[in-house]
Amino acid sequence: MKSKTSSPKKSRLRQISIKWKIFLFLLGFCGVLLLLLWFFQVIFLNSFYKGIKINEIKATANTIEKSINDEDIETIIATVSENNDICIKVLSSSGETIYSSHVVKGCIIHSKPEFDEKALHSEVTNNDGELFQYYNHDGYTRETEPETVPNSDPELSETTEVQTKPPTAEKEKDKDTLIYSKTIVNANNEELTLVLNSMISPVNATVNTLRVQLYYITAFMILFSVILALIIAKWISRPIEAINNSAKMLATGDYSTRFKGTGYQEIAELSDTLNYTAKELSKVELLRQELIANISHDLRTPLTLISGYAEAMRDLPDENNSENAQIIVDETKRLTTLVNDVMDISKLQTGNISIHRQPYNLTASLGDSINRMNKLMEMDGYQIDFIADRDVTLAADETRISQAFYNLLTNAINYTGEDKKITVTQTIFPNPADDLADWVKIEVADSGEGIAEADLPYIWDRYYKVDKTHKRAVTGTGLGLSIVKSILDMHHGDYGVTSKINEGSVFWFTLKI
Ligand code: ADP
Repeated sequence: MKSKTSSPKKSRLRQISIKWKIFLFLLGFCGVLLLLLWFFQVIFLNSFYKGIKINEIKATANTIEKSINDEDIETIIATVSENNDICIKVLSSSGETIYSSHVVKGCIIHSKPEFDEKALHSEVTNNDGELFQYYNHDGYTRETEPETVPNSDPELSETTEVQTKPPTAEKEKDKDTLIYSKTIVNANNEELTLVLNSMISPVNATVNTLRVQLYYITAFMILFSVILALIIAKWISRPIEAINNSAKMLATGDYSTRFKGTGYQEIAELSDTLNYTAKELSKVELLRQELIANISHDLRTPLTLISGYAEAMRDLPDENNSENAQIIVDETKRLTTLVNDVMDISKLQTGNISIHRQPYNLTASLGDSINRMNKLMEMDGYQIDFIADRDVTLAADETRISQAFYNLLTNAINYTGEDKKITVTQTIFPNPADDLADWVKIEVADSGEGIAEADLPYIWDRYYKVDKTHKRAVTGTGLGLSIVKSILDMHHGDYGVTSKINEGSVFWFTLKI
């Protein structure tokens, strides 16, 4: 049930064009950014500013407190006072000024004689040794923050606003001075009062300016998101559309289609992959066409011969002889071989065939094949010699290995020279590619006209025939070596050929013992 209800939603989401998706993401991003700006620049600016000022004044007070017993305390006070734009006084418990630094013009602690320094000590002590006071410089009104502090001065108490909450924006407008007082104890165990006076610039005007600016920024950012989304979407989607169009052409069977992916790396990689796919598909298509052409050609020749000779034997009594019957038999065999080869190669190359490895005597098996072949070819004057150093037993699929060997042997018989000699050699060698383990090498050498260097890399391919006009090429299927290759690949064996024009070829393969 769940998947049923969620799937239309998903598909609807999939159908949203990239343009809108990018726009929504950008809008979301801008929204978060603007929200942060609003919060920090408009709503919290005041508290941030105040917090920074409080920290600054506290840090200055701590510096002085730590150095109160130093000899050069006066210099220290003068320096920190100058550096932070804070007026400083150090008072004795009875309110007399011990040290003083006056750096801000018109600060309350230096310029207002009404500032009651005498009462300050007890006021601070009563407030746990720490007191914050906010003053309006002109009106000399005062409020305490953050805690209520009883005020003993009747003159000041009249104008005192005591509050536990941070001042509202309206009130804050008037307060331009922060006085921080702290009780400290010096080395002589005397209680001193540290008074620091810092000016606070009113932030309300700034906040208003920022607010107006943020209205403009918000409007601009939304517009900018739309434009940027359109540009990015076009930039991203254009190559995708181009690739999609090419893919549609490829789907209709046009393998010459080329994918042009420009703009960014991913699309370039995708188009490279698709170009490669198109190339491979066209190869497969070419092979398919070649296969059909080759098979139909190879089928047509024996079929024409068979039907031609059969008709002649039927209609002309003179032609009804064993020679013609033999031609029909030979051509039928060729057809069988062709069909078998095609079946084998398709099975081998699609991996639809498995090999059954079993230990057997390779030397004996090869000897049997050669004997059988010798018996068959003796009449035609062919001679196959077999040289083996010793009997070799290995685990392999005997039928398949025999098939591969038989293919090499047939080729050698087909292509050998006038002497009609073929030599098969079996040698054992330590294979450097396999930690010098023992491997066996079978070589089939003929004395034929050899294979041109340029053709060597291709003879193992399906349907490759070196010389199409060669007398035997008509009989071959062009699949023999391809079958040898597949069988040895399945056995993890090696194979190859060395050939010299007019001297002959040596086809070989190796197997692990
Ligand atoms: P075919 O059935 O045509 O022999 P193969 O795959 O067995 O097909 O061989 C591919 C091609 O390699 C042959 O057409 C032939 O030109 C060449 N070839 C194979 N074996 C020999 C050989 N012993 N001497 C010369 N050429 C060979």
